[in-house]
Amino acid sequence: MDKMTFVLFGGTGDLAKRKIYPALYNLFIEGKLPESFSIIGLGRGQMTDEDFKERVKNSIHTFSRRMSKNDSTMERFLTFIRYSKLDAANKEDFHSLLKLVQDREKELNIPENRLFYLSVSPTFFETIAMNVKNSGLGTTKGWKRLIIEKPFGRDLESARSLNQNLSNAFAEEEIYRIDHYLGKPMVRNLETLEFANPVLQALWNNKFIANVQITASETVGVEQRAGYYDQAGALRDMFQNHMLQILMMTAMHAPKQTGENEIRAEKRKVLESLRPLEKNEIEKNVIRGQYDSGIGENENVPGYRDEPGVSEDSLTDTFIAARLQIDNPDWTGVPFYIRTGKKMKEKSTRIVVEFKANENEIYSDEDPNLLVIEINPNESVSLILNSKNPANGKMESINVDYASEKLDVPDGYELLIYDALRGDSRFFSHWDEVELAWEWVQPILEAFEENRIPLHKYAAGSNGPDAANLMLEEDGFKWWLDK
Ligand code: NAD
Repeated sequence: MDKMTFVLFGGTGDLAKRKIYPALYNLFIEGKLPESFSIIGLGRGQMTDEDFKERVKNSIHTFSRRMSKNDSTMERFLTFIRYSKLDAANKEDFHSLLKLVQDREKELNIPENRLFYLSVSPTFFETIAMNVKNSGLGTTKGWKRLIIEKPFGRDLESARSLNQNLSNAFAEEEIYRIDHYLGKPMVRNLETLEFANPVLQALWNNKFIANVQITASETVGVEQRAGYYDQAGALRDMFQNHMLQILMMTAMHAPKQTGENEIRAEKRKVLESLRPLEKNEIEKNVIRGQYDSGIGENENVPGYRDEPGVSEDSLTDTFIAARLQIDNPDWTGVPFYIRTGKKMKEKSTRIVVEFKANENEIYSDEDPNLLVIEINPNESVSLILNSKNPANGKMESINVDYASEKLDVPDGYELLIYDALRGDSRFFSHWDEVELAWEWVQPILEAFEENRIPLHKYAAGSNGPDAANLMLEEDGFKWWLDK
């Protein structure tokens, strides 16, 4: 890997503390960082390098997946770190930053390879990119890369404008948009599951698959993020990005090669084939929900509108379920059901592929075969087959199972940062994907904003509104594995 400088905007923030420093440290102890590198943390406040290093050390002790047995490893890691105070809008601060970057490059003998990680509010993305360019920080003899965190815009128009402005300072191939679902090991494994198994490959189409269900349910509510969430909702926060990325990874065709351009092209084709929803079709195909006070163990849980920071007449979606159709020869006629919500019964991100019923009537009463891919909180793959119980001779479902619970699975940020440092952009969102996803979602956003479709209440601790179950019942299906 090339020697490089890692410039972290938002170096004193929550994401840096919980994810980015632990990821860098784990890469370091695994020998995956170059022999010499420079990390420069940035924040708005004044701080000495020593105080900053202490913070980094504490965050690693609290959040790292593992620690080196040798204390000197931590001390060595910290020698690569410096801090600088920076306000995104202050041009002078960028000149000081350039000087620090160059001094460290000389000191550590690092060529001008610079990665700029923007772990700050998206309102600063454009200003920072512009100041990186104008200060000379972005003029390098080596490579430069930009990592940004979602949200990439709040609708089609703002996403286009953000992209336009970023592209004045960074070329598309230099921009690494993090969708942390693409850091999840089981999402990264989809390609192998689908394409390295001739058994599944043969069945991966509308001849054998009845429907595909993608669920991402959370048990938490808005927590401390009401200010952001009430302006976003599930459609923007989860659906436009993470859920559509999982859809692309599930429905794409086998790329001819595993290079980033080939994979991106296949992913893009999925979105290009996604049947657009006309204005009058939205209500039939999209269920908008919002949690209410709870049931059962959640009895005392307040409804969304009673959460601190949420307006009492908020129409924000905390749940969305949708039926999508992919119009290409492999998938025509196979509904893809996607749902995601907060304050649901179970924390689970999973894909369930339901295979078509047996055409042989003698056996057709049995449950369908299911392929279940659990992405979160545990990684597992199971295939549910019908089999005769050897003891009583009755037909029953058996589970062919793989679970990686006991493996020491790296955190997604570790994988993504490692990819970005090597210049491998396969598991980042390309602009084409972001734009096509916004294009598909835009009519739904408008229907929500104009309050044109019902807002279904669901009890905190439930599996979402009944309307989401009815949508599948209409097609003769049900959500599998709901507890
Ligand atoms: P945070 O509020 O904890 O930290 C914000 C950081 O931005 C701080 O380091 C602060 O010093 C810096 N900052 C604030 N104003 C600034 C200015 N004017 N100029 C320069 N720096 C400034 O935020 P966070 O939770 O770390 O989130 C950072 C980004 O990552 C956000 O865009 C967020 O949406 C995204 N994100 C966060 C999480 C998470 O788990 N925290 C998950 C996904 C995405």
